[in-house]
Amino acid sequence: MNCNKQQLWKSIVVSSFGSAFRGKLLNNVESLPSSQLSSIWKEILKIQKIETLSFVVGANSWKWVLGNGSKISFLYDPWIDNLILKDEFPALFLLCRSQNASVAHFLYPSDMSMLQTGWELLLSLPLPLYDSLKASDLQVLLTSYKLNEHQEDLVMWVHDSKGVYNVADGIRIILNSGNLVIPEWPKVVWNNNVPSKVALFHWLALKNSIPVRDVLSRRHILSVDQSTFCAWCLNEVETIDHLLMHCSWSSKIWTDLFRWWNFRWVLPESILLFSFDWYNGMGIKANKFWRLIGPATMWAIWIARNDYIFNGKYTCRSVIVCNIKLKTFL
Ligand SMILES: [Zn+2]
Repeated sequence: MNCNKQQLWKSIVVSSFGSAFRGKLLNNVESLPSSQLSSIWKEILKIQKIETLSFVVGANSWKWVLGNGSKISFLYDPWIDNLILKDEFPALFLLCRSQNASVAHFLYPSDMSMLQTGWELLLSLPLPLYDSLKASDLQVLLTSYKLNEHQEDLVMWVHDSKGVYNVADGIRIILNSGNLVIPEWPKVVWNNNVPSKVALFHWLALKNSIPVRDVLSRRHILSVDQSTFCAWCLNEVETIDHLLMHCSWSSKIWTDLFRWWNFRWVLPESILLFSFDWYNGMGIKANKFWRLIGPATMWAIWIARNDYIFNGKYTCRSVIVCNIKLKTFL
């Protein structure tokens, strides 16, 4: 990874996996020892395989620049025109005595050159004629590469003239490509008018990840004898859409708020549709107060539900509505 050395994420990755790990980003995810990777890191690396992103952060977006040759694997890393020598010269790979060795292991420094090219291919057996011709091709290919003992091997990002990756340029390239359809929902959730804890709750609701009884049951956290019914109405399974919108208890809160804004509205099928409708104002001009009220009401319903289930404390709906009105103007 060639990026600003001060960046926190680089420090974390290097301290977790060692500086030698950085070149592995050039290879396929499958080539990484999965036992060394956390599930989070595996997901990050899978981004390399996403079609719309791979041309920016995939294996072909990086290249090695040879320095002292200590970090680059001679046979496994694509350090010569993106060629992987293991695949280009399979016979040589099979006969090689040091398959995992670095480039430095195979190349003498320029001032210590023993062979004409400075390279020594360490083979266990002589190559067959055809393969020895191919090995000659490799020798020719290698003549233009020399070690530089005073410089470390570097991973360069091919989209930057200095080879330095940064997120802003990565995003710009992706957007300019026209290959990526940006989903609309993030702007609905992550906006400056909503406190971060409320926005986070809203995001989890859209991801169907609020621990309502239906979600807990499907994840086998609730046992089979525990009820999945809504604690308010006792009449429907407590899904996220039900709890936050459709339950007779919750819908009364929304109705009171609509009345406050002086219009009638039918609650949509899902939180996602609801969120878009609300963000866009449902026919009125949405301002920052309006965009706060929707997520804040969902959050208030959730808090009231938890107070009821875990503390036995019942909150009047009129109190919730009153609090939302007051907080909106604070
Ligand atoms: Zn209910």
